[in-house]
Amino acid sequence: MSANRRVWYQHPDGHAIASDDLIVLPDGRAVRPTPIRCPAGHIYQSAGVTVGWTACRPDEGSCNGHLVHTCRQCGGRVFQPLLKPGCSPIAFDGRES
Ligand SMILES: [Zn+2]
Ligand SMILES: [Zn+2]
Repeated sequence: MSANRRVWYQHPDGHAIASDDLIVLPDGRAVRPTPIRCPAGHIYQSAGVTVGWTACRPDEGSCNGHLVHTCRQCGGRVFQPLLKPGCSPIAFDGRES
């Protein structure tokens, strides 16, 4: 587990949390917390970030795809929801197979 990268997320009210689980707001909307840092530790707001969406071809189970934050400094990506075993995200730039 020590090799796992640690990514922090920003709760809608501003504080940092360690999980990207959906947060239900008082008005009933469910939102994904925003990643604060890329896997290499760059802060997205200062390094620059591209936010996109990728479809996914899971071996089993259901997965509709992932929101992807890509660091403009190093290309590090954070997927939301987190990739599960068997997840196979389809590159949105078409260069990866
Ligand atoms: Zn980075
Ligand atoms: Zn997936």
